[in-house]
Amino acid sequence: MAEKTLIIVKPDGVQRHFVGEIISRFEKKGFKLIAAKFMQISEELARKHYAVHEGKPFFEGVVKYISSSPSMVMVWEAEGVIDMARKMMGATFGYDAESGTIRGDFSCSKGYNLIHGSDSPESADFEIPIYFTGEDIVEYDLADEKWLYGKND
Ligand code: UDP
Ligand code: MG
Repeated sequence: MAEKTLIIVKPDGVQRHFVGEIISRFEKKGFKLIAAKFMQISEELARKHYAVHEGKPFFEGVVKYISSSPSMVMVWEAEGVIDMARKMMGATFGYDAESGTIRGDFSCSKGYNLIHGSDSPESADFEIPIYFTGEDIVEYDLADEKWLYGKND
């Protein structure tokens, strides 16, 4: 099984109509969507998700932000998906994210940043079960897998 990452279109991404755009970028890149849930993240889940940032000055703010309105929570799969998705997201805030990235193209906020993506395999293993059970994850073959992930040998 290939690497998995937790991707969340955060409340500002949903409110600003970027769910389709963000899904489209990952689809076109060739990642495989294996789970999705449209939900309002509870404060309890938000605290669990961002537990690594507990005690930092922005912790209460990010918990409030991500639980303030619905989010699109997804798991995407591909070999190397974690780093690739992080590159596609760009730096944490849009005001200094590179153009061509999701945050760089669609945000100039220093507080809201449209999207979450796991930053390591350990983070993905911790974050995915916060939102999904094993049964929610759908394993299947993509018809064009050979062309997407193949090597020329
Ligand atoms: N965050 C914030 N202020 C900061 C740093 C982070 O509000 O100074 C929020 C922001 O929503 C960010 C999240 O906390 O996406 C997690 O921070 P992290 O440094 O892990 O950034 P990311 O991995 O999302 O780029
Ligand atoms: Mg992070």
